[in-house]
Amino acid sequence: MSNKLKHKIFEKISQVADQMQMETYVIGGFVRDIYINRPSKDIDIVTVGSGIELAKNVAKNLKPKPQVNIFKNYGTAMLKYKDMEIEFVGARKESYQRDSRKPIVENGTLEDDQNRRDFTINALALGLNQSNFGELVDPFNGIDDLKNKIIRTPLDPDITFTDDPLRIMRAIRFSTQLGFEINETTLQSITKNRERIKIISGERIIDELNKIMMSPKPSIGFKLLEETGLLKIIFPELQQLKGVDKVNGIGHKDNFYHTLEVLDRIVPNTENLWLRWSALLHDIAKPATKKFIEGQGWTFHAHNFIGVKMIPRIFRRMKLPLNEKMKYVQKMVHLHMRPIVLSEEEVTDSAVRRLLFEAGDDIDDLMTLCEADITSKNSEKVKRYLNNFQLVRQKLKEIEEKDAVRNFQPPIDGELIMKTFSISPCREVGLIKDAIKDAILDGDIQNNYEEAFEFMMKKAVELGLKKEV
Ligand code: ATP
Ligand code: MG
Repeated sequence: MSNKLKHKIFEKISQVADQMQMETYVIGGFVRDIYINRPSKDIDIVTVGSGIELAKNVAKNLKPKPQVNIFKNYGTAMLKYKDMEIEFVGARKESYQRDSRKPIVENGTLEDDQNRRDFTINALALGLNQSNFGELVDPFNGIDDLKNKIIRTPLDPDITFTDDPLRIMRAIRFSTQLGFEINETTLQSITKNRERIKIISGERIIDELNKIMMSPKPSIGFKLLEETGLLKIIFPELQQLKGVDKVNGIGHKDNFYHTLEVLDRIVPNTENLWLRWSALLHDIAKPATKKFIEGQGWTFHAHNFIGVKMIPRIFRRMKLPLNEKMKYVQKMVHLHMRPIVLSEEEVTDSAVRRLLFEAGDDIDDLMTLCEADITSKNSEKVKRYLNNFQLVRQKLKEIEEKDAVRNFQPPIDGELIMKTFSISPCREVGLIKDAIKDAILDGDIQNNYEEAFEFMMKKAVELGLKKEV
């Protein structure tokens, strides 16, 4: 184990700690990750005494001397060394009040410090003084929990979770990231204390949720959120997807589990968080658009459009970015059925050109989403779809090489239309613009100014903007 403490930095910290006669440990996530062979670059050092003083002296002994960032209010200091971030803090004892996750902090022993940790696997400490270098201090048997892949709080979970309900999210996040199981009493306590999550800021919750999204199997986390009743508090729209209605004995698929399947399926094909969010949200408007129609069965008419409309509200509430990333997710949700529809019909040039035009540079992402969306239990059907997709991809390539419509801009814009007919912004401007675009994408006219201009004049006559000459 001390093998991992071979790094020169630990030797340095050890020397300085001994000189200053300060009892010092490396603790928490870094130690956990050593035992499970998980790469980690942030190191937490805890010392009985002043973490800031220790950090300053360690920095003095390093070449080149790193800058020490001091956070006086928290009693912590951070320095960067090579590619590592090392945080120093004095061992502390914490006590909490009911309405806040800000504790009253006092200086404490290593034991006090381990008691305030969230999980047994996160409370492991390795000695750094020469007398105990590399020795494990593990008061809650975290090593066994690591071996058995269990998340468990060191104290009574009701205390750990009411003290700081962010730990509820962290439990579910670690379970998802590491593929660990949450111990039964710990899980029950999460359910019992779920309302406490309301005192946690949206930003902290979304940090954890995004870590769940970036895990190898995000469905683990979302299922836990659902089972513990947290989902309906933090993400009611997703909760709404769960369940199956029946009319005349005909049901539809459970869109919650379908969505999670799509999300898990997209994971191996993308590291793009926002494409993963697109997978999570692609059917978000199915409950709102659900209708049983005699002769047709269950329909979810325009669920992609309604989904696009729901996204800003969800993003704002959940403190997700309201910028081009949100727009990207909206675009994916908007277009998510297009390649499937296309592959069901004859794959015409014009349809492919339109898809390319609308998806632009995001066309590959859209295809990735669409492929993940095919979750039928019928393997023949899946095979047929995926084959058709190959065809669509092939056709996309051909058309792109031939026509370069990916980032195509129509040769006539709104300004020119308004100037030509001396009109101010109005419905007709949009109609003409769309008609020109359609004519080009359908191959009725060539993509150049002359043909587009002539077409515009004809269209204007039709719309009564101009008398026929
Ligand atoms: P990762 O860095 O992979 O997200 P980590 O366990 O290192 O996981 P950090 O947020 O870096 O998580 O925290 C470092 C350590 O601090 C944890 O291992 C844990 O011991 C402790 N810790 C962090 N947040 C809390 C919390 N809310 N309550 C109790 N202890 C915490
Ligand atoms: Mg960490």
